[in-house]
Amino acid sequence: GLAERLQETFKKLRGKGRLTEADVNEALREVRIALLEADVNFKVVKDFVARIRERAVGQELHASLNPTQHVIKIVHDELTGLMGGANSKIKIAPKPPTVVVMVGLNGAGKTTTSAKLANLLRKQGKRPLLVAADVYRPAAIKQLQVLGNQLNVPVFTIGEKQDPVAIGQAAVKNAAANGHDLVIIDTAGRQEVNDELMSELENMNRVLEPDEILLVIDAMTGQTAVHVAEQFNKRLNLDGVVLTKLDGDSRGGAALSVRAITGKPIKFAGVGEKLDALEPFHPDRMSERILGMGDMLTLIEKAQENYDAEQMAIIQKRIRNMEFTLDDFLEQLSQVKKMGPIEQVLGMIPGLGGAKKIKDLQVDEKELAGIEAIIQSMTPPERQDPEKVLNGSRKRRIAKGSGTSVQEVNRLLKQFDQTKKIMKQFVSMEKTLKKGGKMP
Ligand code: GDP
Ligand code: MG
Repeated sequence: GLAERLQETFKKLRGKGRLTEADVNEALREVRIALLEADVNFKVVKDFVARIRERAVGQELHASLNPTQHVIKIVHDELTGLMGGANSKIKIAPKPPTVVVMVGLNGAGKTTTSAKLANLLRKQGKRPLLVAADVYRPAAIKQLQVLGNQLNVPVFTIGEKQDPVAIGQAAVKNAAANGHDLVIIDTAGRQEVNDELMSELENMNRVLEPDEILLVIDAMTGQTAVHVAEQFNKRLNLDGVVLTKLDGDSRGGAALSVRAITGKPIKFAGVGEKLDALEPFHPDRMSERILGMGDMLTLIEKAQENYDAEQMAIIQKRIRNMEFTLDDFLEQLSQVKKMGPIEQVLGMIPGLGGAKKIKDLQVDEKELAGIEAIIQSMTPPERQDPEKVLNGSRKRRIAKGSGTSVQEVNRLLKQFDQTKKIMKQFVSMEKTLKKGGKMP
């Protein structure tokens, strides 16, 4: 995939202290091929590579970044910019209800996404009404009703063979009368873009004047999805795009091209079939995901905030050699204080970036202070090998010394243990991969 290709490219650069022009050219050539293979529009790729070349050659050097990190940072910035920079939210009507019309081809995910969006925005305090306006496929009405039922969100319907415009109007009235401040209308699609569909939707939008027209496209279809977006946008002047099935085996091309080609932002991403699998789309996070920069990028960013990368490198080496102790854990924690959540810090350790289990290790600020106190109350041998030397009386002494409890000491030890286990797992995975073996 795209991520693997790009990561491979940068890995080659990483070993180098200085980058020659030939190094940069070779890397950019590989970036270009990776993007084209990911089904990114060729014109987008061309402009993108040109911008990176300009910036990389211009060398706005950063004191705390080496040349390779510098190139990676430029690529990251440009990828983020390509996808629109910041997250775009939906417009909320000054006078409720906010009306959102979901449009798109059959199978793109309109009905599912309508329900997911209701679910997501309800969590943000909205009172949604779902509207079944796909009058061509009776099963679609039933489908939306089932989803609405699961969410306990009401679904407005007046049956099949009705005029979708009339349904929309009636729904908005119903919403206003019943205290719904958000109306999400699921419309009918077609197998492909045609004039009948466009006229129907134009008509509906002229009458309803929705606050948002969201086009739902399927990421798995790559450039086709982007072409569909272009066509819809010409007729309907979209407000944004929802990119579905990003969890699938998509090559990433749609995510990277839509904004550049249509000028319209991706506002949400569908990442699974379940009703909570819809996320606000964040270009910077997507770019990180593509570059697989759980490790490098955060490191680079933290370097800019005068973070002690040297210290971190030492810790990383110790992890590799499996010498990770509570002292290292404490050192990490003191970095955490400067930097934010612990999963970020763990994410900086090569290979740990994508670990789902990191979520289990979340520690908040208050807990942090306690952990620090506990470790500081230990003797050096205790920090070195806590499992071996810590007995009940020592734990009581440590709890007392740190103003915590034995339970808290135990909890810390468990966290430390978990962290170590995950690290070991990744170190051995890395070794297997290096030997050319397969992952279990
Ligand atoms: P519609 O014809 O545009 O209304 O499409 P549907 O909402 O009926 O979705 C078509 C299929 O795509 C369904 O099987 C959905 O479960 C599936 N689907 C929609 N969004 C996603 C997504 O983000 N990820 C995955 N894996 N499947 C999705
Ligand atoms: Mg549908």
